[in-house]
Amino acid sequence: MATGWVWSERYMWHDTGTAGGPLPVSRWVEPMTHIEAPDAKRRFANLVAASGLLDRLTVLAPRPATVAELTRVHEPDYVADVEQQAAAGGGNLGGGTPFGEFSYEIALLAAGGVLSAVEAVFAGTVDNAYALVRPPGHHATPDHGRGFCLFNNVAIAARHAQQAYQIERVAIVDWDVHHGNGTQDTFWDDPSVLAISIHQDGVYPPRSGPVSDVGAHGTIVNVPLPPGSGDGAYRAAFADVVEPALDRFGPDLILVACGFDANGFDPLARQMLSSESFRWMTGRVKAAAERHCDRRLVLTHEGGYSPFAVPFCGLAVVEELCGIRTEVEDPYLPIVENYGGQLLPHQAEAIAKAAQRNDTSWASSS
Ligand code: ZN
Repeated sequence: MATGWVWSERYMWHDTGTAGGPLPVSRWVEPMTHIEAPDAKRRFANLVAASGLLDRLTVLAPRPATVAELTRVHEPDYVADVEQQAAAGGGNLGGGTPFGEFSYEIALLAAGGVLSAVEAVFAGTVDNAYALVRPPGHHATPDHGRGFCLFNNVAIAARHAQQAYQIERVAIVDWDVHHGNGTQDTFWDDPSVLAISIHQDGVYPPRSGPVSDVGAHGTIVNVPLPPGSGDGAYRAAFADVVEPALDRFGPDLILVACGFDANGFDPLARQMLSSESFRWMTGRVKAAAERHCDRRLVLTHEGGYSPFAVPFCGLAVVEELCGIRTEVEDPYLPIVENYGGQLLPHQAEAIAKAAQRNDTSWASSS
């Protein structure tokens, strides 16, 4: 199994500057490094190298996406606006998405990095690929960026695959903890793209991604999970929703919007996945790609804001893609997998236990 690896140090030079964490600095919010910072991603790349796994991967050089490739998804005026703001020294999309003078060309290299991965998969150079790109993309809609995203990398990749390789059906599985709203908007009216998003209910964008959002043809699938969802909830979501949807759809290519912010240490959400959960989900999409599309599978990096947890979750994903286990063990795994409530349905069980105690403890002690 040959696995492609896309990475560039240039991605780390996308400058998000200082902020109030994920939001702009305001009067009573002390400036700090913007939460969408290089650390988690660079440390993931460093661990892939330090573990020796990089030597077993096929390194794919990212290329810049062209404006014509971007405008298969985005409005030309929006693309021009980002370019002009960057050229003027940098800008900000909707307040929480600052970018620097060189971020336009870095964002082209991020979108193009996913295109390089898709091209290698269709060329047969690799069976599957991981594109560790930055800035992320899945919140960017056709006419505006938000949520740290400038251009929708995974949507641009889906369009590229359809146009360059004449395939019909692309499935996108988005397991970033936030809703893939930009991808949903892009493909709302398009039955040729199945867009599945598993996310924490309502966390970002606020109230976005309810189950009732199904698209014009039923090919938008949303799985909003309550806060505190762990391995059991995700396994159930895959068994009951994601895999049946993939099997009904029969994709010619599977893309994954791979965020790591559903891990148990993430500061921007409240889910409990471990590195083993991400390894398992990768195995499931890999198996689906074997069933449906000659193994064609590309993962593109989205969010994930724990600088110490993301590298181990990421390494597990890449190990599973290529079928090689390194000697690295995730030191955080015993902590996360022993969080209470990893099994489904923990919320119901916890409440039933509390109710039972309420029935008996006061009455019997009197
Ligand atoms: Zn996210």
